[in-house]
Amino acid sequence: MPDATIQLRSLKGVWRPVYAHRQALHATADAIVLAAWKRDAHGLDLAPAVAAWQQLLGESADPAQRHRRQTAAAAVLGILSAWSWQRTRTAIALAAKRAHRAGWAAGRALVTQDPDDDTPYDTGPSSPHVIGSPDMSDDTADGTATAVLTAALSATADRAGRAIADSTDDPADDGEDTIETALDLALLTDAAVSAAYGAGMLAAYLAAGTRSVLWLTAGDGRVCERCSDAEAGSPYSLLAAPTLPQHPNCRCCLAPA
Ligand SMILES: [Zn+2]
Repeated sequence: MPDATIQLRSLKGVWRPVYAHRQALHATADAIVLAAWKRDAHGLDLAPAVAAWQQLLGESADPAQRHRRQTAAAAVLGILSAWSWQRTRTAIALAAKRAHRAGWAAGRALVTQDPDDDTPYDTGPSSPHVIGSPDMSDDTADGTATAVLTAALSATADRAGRAIADSTDDPADDGEDTIETALDLALLTDAAVSAAYGAGMLAAYLAAGTRSVLWLTAGDGRVCERCSDAEAGSPYSLLAAPTLPQHPNCRCCLAPA
């Protein structure tokens, strides 16, 4: 087997531009999606949800804290689901498309570029949505956006419900602060960007006629067992390879075998 493991701390050859692009990709995706979320969330008012929740609780005798949190989360989810998250949805779809294209360009560079050559590569021209295309289809991008947004709203409602139920000051304020922070959205965006990147890579390998791939870990001492196992199981046929990401913040990669 070729020299496996990427060694993120001392990147060599073609891996330097690959990971420079990839880190920039994640940073940009985080920034645009979180900025869109903050703009979308502006003006969101949880006071009516909190009032309805308090009234509901007032009708039940001595509710358990778990019940208090769950009912608060349900009240928040009602508000969040009815709210327009159009900017966020558009930003996620855009991030997914960019990630697919970046993954494709990285895959192409890994196939065509001399492994010792660390000169930057470009991301290539647009092309029709066919098998092996650099571009993610609009439908797939929209589907990604819907999945990320739905999961983010649900997780955010749970978190805000906890903040409201545990609040010692102003429940609506505490809930709104939690929503603004968007911790769950950041993780979900990271995962969606990685998945699109991996799909783009596989598309490039498919287009190049690559038959098998290696799972490569980042090799920086923080590699988890799951990813080490995936690396040890290499090589894989294109369609049987484990998919990116194996977990949040996974920095593994698929290289042509
Ligand atoms: Zn990993």
